[in-house]
Amino acid sequence: MDCVRCGSDNKLETDRIIPGIEGGEYVPENTRELCQGCHKYRHERDKIVATLEGESQPDRVAVLRERLRILDEQNEPEKVKQRGYYSYWNDYQVILPREQTGAGIYPPKEQMAFDWPETSSRVSTIPV
Ligand SMILES: [Zn+2]
Repeated sequence: MDCVRCGSDNKLETDRIIPGIEGGEYVPENTRELCQGCHKYRHERDKIVATLEGESQPDRVAVLRERLRILDEQNEPEKVKQRGYYSYWNDYQVILPREQTGAGIYPPKEQMAFDWPETSSRVSTIPV
């Protein structure tokens, strides 16, 4: 069976609908197949939502809402199917579908490092 969210068959994982931390068990009524990308998205989203529920400071609420908005936008089912999960605050956590990377799920190390442009002298643009 393919991922119930995006339909891909990339690294399928069993997701507990009610998560383990809340007492959800690995029983058929509480499980579904998600690809690795959708599974990661699901739990990342849960974390932000849980943090948001416990937050009352308006500025922090605004930041969390923005995180959620970007996370959702970057991980629409079709996008996850195409290129895997995208974590907007850690680019290196982009998980590419197997076909694009060869063996592993992560991009090669060289691609993970931030590539400073040749012309950049790394001079701070922040006024001192
Ligand atoms: Zn999926």
